[in-house]
Amino acid sequence: MQHHISLLGSTGSIGRQTLEVCRAHGYPVEGLAAYSNEALLEMQAREFRPRQVCIYREDLWQSLKIRLADTGIRVVCGMEGLCETAALSGADLLVNAVVGMVGLQPTLAAIAAGKDIALANKETLVTGGALVMRAAREQGVRILPVDSEHSAIFQCLQGYSGCRLNKILLTASGGPFFGKTRAELQHVTAEQALKHPNWKMGAKITVDSATLMNKGFECIEAVWLFGCAPEQVEVVVHRESIIHSMVEFADYAVLAQMGVPDMKIPIQYALTYPERQPCPTGRLDLFSVGTLTFARPDTETFLCLKTALRAIQMGGLYPTLVNGANEELVALFLQGKISFLQIGDTVARMLELPVPEELTLETILAAERQAREAVHTICGV
Ligand code: NDP
Ligand code: MG
Repeated sequence: MQHHISLLGSTGSIGRQTLEVCRAHGYPVEGLAAYSNEALLEMQAREFRPRQVCIYREDLWQSLKIRLADTGIRVVCGMEGLCETAALSGADLLVNAVVGMVGLQPTLAAIAAGKDIALANKETLVTGGALVMRAAREQGVRILPVDSEHSAIFQCLQGYSGCRLNKILLTASGGPFFGKTRAELQHVTAEQALKHPNWKMGAKITVDSATLMNKGFECIEAVWLFGCAPEQVEVVVHRESIIHSMVEFADYAVLAQMGVPDMKIPIQYALTYPERQPCPTGRLDLFSVGTLTFARPDTETFLCLKTALRAIQMGGLYPTLVNGANEELVALFLQGKISFLQIGDTVARMLELPVPEELTLETILAAERQAREAVHTICGV
C-alpha cells in the first residue's frame, strides 16, 4: 500500500530525510510545512508538487505565495494553516516532524480527520500523550513511531501483541558528555553540546541528547505508545548506537533491533509498515563495529533524565511543565543566556509548581505558558 503523505517540518533533519525516502520510492507528497525556511520550502514544493504548503510565520506568507505563484500550489500560514495541512484531504498519513509542542494541535487535527500518524515530534506525546492516544483510539487511527528507539520497540513487538512484556530496554548513546562530572559540565558551550557522537539532528534535540532530557522524553513517549508503566522502562547507555532498543518478555527472552544509526530506516518503516523495502542507507557491518557496550545512566549528573522520569510518575500536567520549561531553557542556552547546568537545575524546579488536575488542550497550553514564565523568573533573564 502506498501512502499519500502530508509532511510537517519538511525543512528539518527528519523532514529532509523523509523526503529522501519519498524520492527513492516515488511516494506522493500532498502537503509540506515549515516554520520560516521559505527558500527550501519552495525548492521542495517545486520538486514534490504538493497540493498545499504551509509556512508558519505569517509575515512570510505573502512572499512564499509570490515564489510559488506559477505552480498553482495553495499557500497557507499560522497554526490554522498547519492544522489544515495536517488534516489535508487527499493525504492519508501525517508525518509530523516539527520540533516542539507546537506539533500537538496539528496532530490532534489529523487524528480527528482520520489520518494515521507517523510521529517524530516527541514533544507532542510528552505534553499531550493522554489526549493524543485517546483520540487515536476513538478514531481508530495508528500512531506509528519514527523515533529510532520506539521504532525498534515497535519492530520487536510485531507478532507478540498477546505476550506479556516485562520491560522495555531503551538504549541511549549517552550524548557528547557521557562520563563527565557536574564540575566538568559547568562551562560547556552550545558549540560543544551541539557535537553529537553518532547522530546528525536538529539543534534542539541535539542539546536534549547532551542533557539526557531526550532520553527522559523517550521514556515518556514509550509509556504512551506501548501502554506500559514508567517502571517498566529502563534506560541502557549503549555508546555505539547499533542496538536501537530492546524488549524483555515474560520468559526473559530479550529481542533487539539493530542497524546503522540512520533515521531513514525508522522513517521508512513508518511509511511502509507492515511491509519492508530496501532503504537508501548503508548496511550494518558487525565486523567493523566489533564490540557492543552497555552502561547505566548517571541520573545525578544528568538531572533532566531524573526529572522527566519523576514527571511521568507524577502524571497529569507535570510532563507538560517539564517540556515547556525545557523548550524555553534550550532556546536560552543556545542564545548563550544561561549555562548548560541551569537547564537541568531549572527543569527540576517544575515538579514543585502547583497545577490543576484536569487535562485538556486548554490546561496543557496554560501549563506550557506557566512553565515558560517560571523559567524566566528562576533564571532572571
Ligand atoms: P530540526 O530543527 O532539524 O527541524 C525542525 C522542523 O520543524 C523544521 O522544518 C522547522 O522549520 C519546523 N518547524 C519548527 N517550528 C515550526 C512551526 N511552528 N510550524 C511549522 N514548522 C515548524 O528538527 P529535527 O528534524 O531534528 O527534529 C524534529 C522532531 O523529530 C523533534 O521533535 C525531534 O525530537 C524528533 N526527532 C528527531 C530525530 C533526528 O534524528 N533529527 C530523531 C528522533 C526524533 P524551519 O526549517 O523553517 O525552521
Ligand atoms: Mg531517539
